[in-house]
Amino acid sequence: MGEASCNVCPHACSPAEGAYGLCGSRKMQGGKIVPEGYGRLTSLALDPIEKKPFARFHPGTTVLSLSSYGCNLKCP
Ligand code: SF4
Repeated sequence: MGEASCNVCPHACSPAEGAYGLCGSRKMQGGKIVPEGYGRLTSLALDPIEKKPFARFHPGTTVLSLSSYGCNLKCP
């Protein structure tokens, strides 16, 4: 137990039992990595499609954006 590691991103976290990986959304629970944030929305908005990487697709329309918590970057 506790030897599992997360393979979602290059950090390959192997947190202690009950602790979170660097992203703060995946947790070691019962010897397994659990995506605790899965299905929990923290942001839901209609955005201009020009904010997305398909700006030439139906210009002037909106797109539904949603996200959850957690980030695997190390910004201060
Ligand atoms: S930062 Fe998060 S997603 Fe990346 S390996 Fe660690 S626990 Fe997994």
